[in-house]
Amino acid sequence: MQKSDTPIVKDLVLIGGGHSHVAVLKRFGMKPLPGVRLTLICRDAHTPYSGMLPGYVAGHYDYDEAHIDLGALARFANARFYHSTVTGLDLREKRVICDNRPPVLFELVSINTGSTPNTSRVPGATGNVVPVKPINTFLDRWEVLRDRAMSHDGPMKIAVVGAGAGGVEILLAIQHRLKNLRAAAGKSADNMEFHLFSDTDDILPTHNGLVRRTFMETLKARGVVLHMSNAVAEVMHGALRTDREETFQADEILWVTAAGAPDWPRDAGLDVDDGGFIKVGDTLQSTSHPDVYAAGDLAAMVNHPRPKSGVFAVRQGKPLVRNLRRALLGREPRPFRPQSRFLSLISTGDKYAVASRGGWSLKGKTIWIWKDWIDQRFMDKFNDLPDMDEEDETDLPAGLANQDVIKEISAIAMRCGGCGAKVGATVLSRALNSLTPAPREDVLIGLHEPDDAAVVEVPPGKVIVHTVDYFRAMVDDPYVFGKIAANHSLGDIFAMGGEPQTALA
Ligand SMILES: Cc1cc2nc3c(=O)[nH]c(=O)nc-3n(C[C@H](O)[C@H](O)[C@H](O)COP(=O)(O)OP(=O)(O)OC[C@H]3O[C@@H](n4cnc5c(N)ncnc54)[C@H](O)[C@@H]3O)c2cc1C
Repeated sequence: MQKSDTPIVKDLVLIGGGHSHVAVLKRFGMKPLPGVRLTLICRDAHTPYSGMLPGYVAGHYDYDEAHIDLGALARFANARFYHSTVTGLDLREKRVICDNRPPVLFELVSINTGSTPNTSRVPGATGNVVPVKPINTFLDRWEVLRDRAMSHDGPMKIAVVGAGAGGVEILLAIQHRLKNLRAAAGKSADNMEFHLFSDTDDILPTHNGLVRRTFMETLKARGVVLHMSNAVAEVMHGALRTDREETFQADEILWVTAAGAPDWPRDAGLDVDDGGFIKVGDTLQSTSHPDVYAAGDLAAMVNHPRPKSGVFAVRQGKPLVRNLRRALLGREPRPFRPQSRFLSLISTGDKYAVASRGGWSLKGKTIWIWKDWIDQRFMDKFNDLPDMDEEDETDLPAGLANQDVIKEISAIAMRCGGCGAKVGATVLSRALNSLTPAPREDVLIGLHEPDDAAVVEVPPGKVIVHTVDYFRAMVDDPYVFGKIAANHSLGDIFAMGGEPQTALA
């Protein structure tokens, strides 16, 4: 909830609660910027941490350990949290279009919505495979698969399409978990087959030979059947066909192919690359729209292309928040250069991991313990939030807006201090204009001809049931709160056996 009496001068909207935006929220919580209203719009209320996803599937972490609670983080950052999926951007009017609420206005917007494996390029894939992203949808499907594997006693084939780090890691995690669950239930896992399909001739193509060899040996030792240089050309219900014209039956097909981008950034008119990823410069600003920032998988740094990986999304958090703050204060954003080599810690599902960096690699149980320590430390930063003192710095910082604007806004804020927190006439008219008045003969003065008050005729022999209700805003979203308030009042009318006739706003 917004606590301060400082007037809102600028709106910063964060789309998606990915690995970079959690850092932005944390930083704004630690060091608020008076006069800036922060809004997070995210499809999920809990964002999964990619580093722990395979460990969650393998059964080493529970849901809370592997997810960041965005509601709590938004409260810490004093940000509004809108639980919505963004479907578009209106860059001319500077509005974010959402699936379940009116558009959200912004001065500055930052996008960190990640990527999803592309299913649209392979006929039949959409609808017949389980894409590993969105992760929360995948996790729901994973639970179904888990239950199915537990109750299934005949042979079962699980195919994973995509042999990058994500595909190999998730396959090994699933295999480990199902084997353990079945063993705990006194069942054998011998009937379960795991198949890995790839259009490349080797697994983990972006990693060095040592890493590839280790995983090749692990996959073989664990009985995984490899189908290399075998691009999936079509997917049917319960089967796939490769470009070698081989058909393969599978009880479950998991899709962990290269990252794909949604259509809406391109449709909005943002500069995107061939894959639809938002092109950004060294400051993480869109190359076409400087008031749009992007980070994580969905961003393509034009001068420093890097693989789609959570590591880069995390690393972009710091420069992103610095540049957003600078931009809000009217300063020039600073360039950032991502590292070219990075450490990957890839697990084999059984609390064993392989470290990979450039041409270097190490493996063992200790590497898993190290990975676990790094991941837990990262999560602690967002799940153990410090108690912050109520902000005492409420003066608008220099540079946020010019002095005339600040004076004018402050005067409005002062004038409105005691008037029952009415919304301004322009905002109210805009909201009311979007409603279509229902023509009724008993409404003599209504929205079709708005005045200071409405006039409604009561038919002879009828009575009016009145109700008025007010309560503290328990959500920081006027739209949702309006719905709650309307439903509350309607409930009172229905409880009296009445029929709703009019509403006042
Ligand atoms: C199985 C697997 C294992 C992986 N393991 C690792 C690993 O160990 N280390 C590593 O570095 N990388 C790993 N990766 C890659 C990693 O998952 C991604 O690179 C990383 O998640 C990208 O982070 P992001 O911040 O861009 O987006 P995400 O982490 O995907 O976050 C996107 C956020 O945006 C929200 N969102 C999405 N669309 C919308 C929308 N339209 N409107 C509103 N909100 C939206 C989502 O709810 C989510 O909160 C793995 C990937 C897979 C598939």
